[in-house]
Amino acid sequence: MAQAQDITVPDIGDFKNVEVIDVLVKPGDTVAPETPLITLETEKATMDVPSPGAGVVKSVAVKKGDRVSKGSLVVTLEAGASGSSAEKPVDKSIEGAKEDVPFVDTIVRREPSTTEQQAASPPASSEKPAAAPAAKESSNYDFDMVVLGAGPGGYTAAFRAADLGLKTAIIERWPQLGGVCLNVGCIPSKALLHAAKVITEAHEMGAAGISFGEPQIDTTKLRAWKNKVVTRLTGGLATLARQRKVEVIRGEGKFVSAHEIEVTPVEFKLGSGTAVAGATASGPARKVSFAHCIIAAGSESVRLPGVPDDPRIIDSTGALELDLPKNLLVVGGGIIGLEMATVYDALGVKVSVVELTDGLMPGCDRDLVRPFEKRITARYERILVKTKVAKVEPQQDGVKMTFEGEKAPEPQVYDKVLIAVGRSPNGKRIGADAAGVLVNDRGFVPVDRQMRTNIPHIFAIGDIAGQPMLAHKASHEGKLAAEVAHGEKRSFDARVIPSVAYTDPEIAWVGLTETDAKAKGIEYEKASFPWAASGRSLSLGRDEGMTKLLFDKQTHRVVGAGIVGPNAGDLIAEAALAIEMGSDATDIGLTIHPHPTLSETIAFAAEAFDGTLTDLYVPKKKAPGA
Ligand code: FAD
Repeated sequence: MAQAQDITVPDIGDFKNVEVIDVLVKPGDTVAPETPLITLETEKATMDVPSPGAGVVKSVAVKKGDRVSKGSLVVTLEAGASGSSAEKPVDKSIEGAKEDVPFVDTIVRREPSTTEQQAASPPASSEKPAAAPAAKESSNYDFDMVVLGAGPGGYTAAFRAADLGLKTAIIERWPQLGGVCLNVGCIPSKALLHAAKVITEAHEMGAAGISFGEPQIDTTKLRAWKNKVVTRLTGGLATLARQRKVEVIRGEGKFVSAHEIEVTPVEFKLGSGTAVAGATASGPARKVSFAHCIIAAGSESVRLPGVPDDPRIIDSTGALELDLPKNLLVVGGGIIGLEMATVYDALGVKVSVVELTDGLMPGCDRDLVRPFEKRITARYERILVKTKVAKVEPQQDGVKMTFEGEKAPEPQVYDKVLIAVGRSPNGKRIGADAAGVLVNDRGFVPVDRQMRTNIPHIFAIGDIAGQPMLAHKASHEGKLAAEVAHGEKRSFDARVIPSVAYTDPEIAWVGLTETDAKAKGIEYEKASFPWAASGRSLSLGRDEGMTKLLFDKQTHRVVGAGIVGPNAGDLIAEAALAIEMGSDATDIGLTIHPHPTLSETIAFAAEAFDGTLTDLYVPKKKAPGA
């Protein structure tokens, strides 16, 4: 028999008359224990009031905008009402699940703008979730937590899970931990970009009276140095796994049920010039069972359809092997292609770039890309935009490339062609069907704000869980998924995810871009500071940089930032923090920045907005009608 139960606001500390900013249920809704009912916002934080039990909502006593205190009635619940899914066994969080307390975010939350939502939210599934296959008793599993894939998402998730006391294993098909980022992505590319920077800076010091002569490049040594950087980090991960007693299971994992993965040892070499060499252990396949699983199987380079197999046609992993040609065509003007172009150009290769859309680095504001474009136009052999690759024909003297487009040149022959047209998620390669986990057409595994897939005890993070495909997003999600699996009441509430191109000059942006704001009719105000007026920039021999900040028109809080210039990637973190903290121009301008640094340019841009900048003369805007 159904029993009515009044759910009231629990003890929320010192807060009284707190505003209801969201009502998350309506009469007739079925709720499980801990389903959030309403969201409250104080000056310091937001918090959800969860249902203490299961049942069907009979009536809701509050509406958005109401003010409540401890004891205020929230909803009346028919506990044990028939048809309630809450009567079915609920997937209880493993060891250490917390008491039923309101969920308190660690930061003040507000509704993200559409742009931010797009940046931060996982891909939505158009399909209905499948029912979760029945669970075994938790004690019967080999592990509390199994993580599939040891990239920045996977190893972070596994280490966090182990630190929270979960018996954890990580399954990895490559001989080294670290995934794409450490082995064939972020780290080796940044090592080579450092080498490129040393070469170009040494050359440019010629203008200041210091000449070193032409660089002698020993690619064998350079490759070995780059691999040493990688193995130092990946070796460190192996130690960290041992210290935490995370079992590393080598081989390719595929789901065989909702609580089991079969691991088959595989021989996996990524190319002689990379640090991912050697084979994984041989032997029979092994089944590993788990109470919870985090899918962190990442992504692979997209292969262009119709492009033949030829050793002279390479992807980013091939480019990291550093087998230098005389000339190179980079197909794709995105971040990965342009970073490799920066390296090859500095190493003396004649570089050309072809991009399908009408500008390099799609997604980034044009004023930020311009100084980079200007620099590479002077250095590269050819830059083609709005141009399509129509045909790729390997022949004896190179790879013949045929182009289509208004300004398409005649077919050209290149010693090497780097295809860098994006990455596709590995969702279709992990036997997800056997676990009932949905994978969308593009290979992404859709997840909710807690990184759960449609099967509640299976999570997905990183590249496989959606855009943007970035290591810092993967590791943030990895921690989050491990904490949610452990029973913490957390969800993805980052406002922004920064993007960085480590080209020369570097380009970095975060939050709202002007391009997006204009396309979506979002009102904003902006201020920028040209680095030609920065003492630090000039002392580095560079003057083309720029820092711009975008502000909310009403609140004057920072909502977006873009920086172009040396070290832009390091500088953008301050703007990301400003957005997360809800800082306005005055907060930044009144923060004392060290002098002379590039970080001052952020403060100067904020001062330019506030009208207090003294390092440049900004004429006052005329009053209307004056
Ligand atoms: P991955 O790093 O892709 O790791 C997935 C792991 O899962 C791999 O080790 C893989 O072997 C393993 N795996 C997959 N399937 C299975 C299976 N069935 N069984 C067992 N193991 C499996 N991002 C940045 O933020 N900054 C950068 O500067 C940057 N530079 C990059 C440069 C290049 C050249 C490239 C290619 C990428 C770069 N990225 C960068 C992107 C970044 O590498 C990825 O976003 C990041 O690695 C994603 O992490 P992940 O944990 O989701 O997956």
